[in-house]
Amino acid sequence: MSPVNTRVRTPTENPAISNHTSLPKHGVVGVLRLGSVGEAVVKIVAANLQEILQLPVDILPARQTPEFAFSDQRKQYHAALILKKLAESRRPHPRILALVSVDLFIPILTHVFGEAQIGGRAAVVSLHRLKQKEEGGGVSLDTFYERAAKVALHEVAHTFDLVHCKQPECIMRLSSGPGDLDELPLFFCEYCEAFLEESYRRYGIQKLPDWSQ
Ligand SMILES: [Zn+2]
Ligand SMILES: [Zn+2]
Repeated sequence: MSPVNTRVRTPTENPAISNHTSLPKHGVVGVLRLGSVGEAVVKIVAANLQEILQLPVDILPARQTPEFAFSDQRKQYHAALILKKLAESRRPHPRILALVSVDLFIPILTHVFGEAQIGGRAAVVSLHRLKQKEEGGGVSLDTFYERAAKVALHEVAHTFDLVHCKQPECIMRLSSGPGDLDELPLFFCEYCEAFLEESYRRYGIQKLPDWSQ
């Protein structure tokens, strides 16, 4: 589980995403979009999670924008309320990741790219700020997809108890802006990778075979 580069993976490169007939009926991670989120980014995020986490990932039917989490005061959506709702999902998946296009916040921060329950079930990623350059203007579609995959990987890893990491070459490093995010690799450092393996064992989670071998 050591991808050699940080190139974002596309769904067609991954045979298991649409065809895991020999695997259990449902994946470990269910990815769903809430509101107006493009289908392509959902597929790319799912394919990257599946390959890098080595877990079966399912794309779940889209749902509406989580209006219940909208704050009139902040004009943003409260990430923790979305997580709470996701955690109550009746889906069989042990982990649920939602992608939203609205801006997310938690009370102590102006905004967040994503939020997750540490060692819990739910994670959410906002695509809202990932399309923009810090200095203004938009980024290329490739950069946008790569950022989305990175935030998703980081947040889902939190649900497996991973915390922030100080290693320079690690997706679990804390990033404060989208530019920071572009510096991060799309993989874990060896410590976080070992921690993740241990976490899978603890949660009784079976990994997929490594396609790259
Ligand atoms: Zn984090
Ligand atoms: Zn690390």
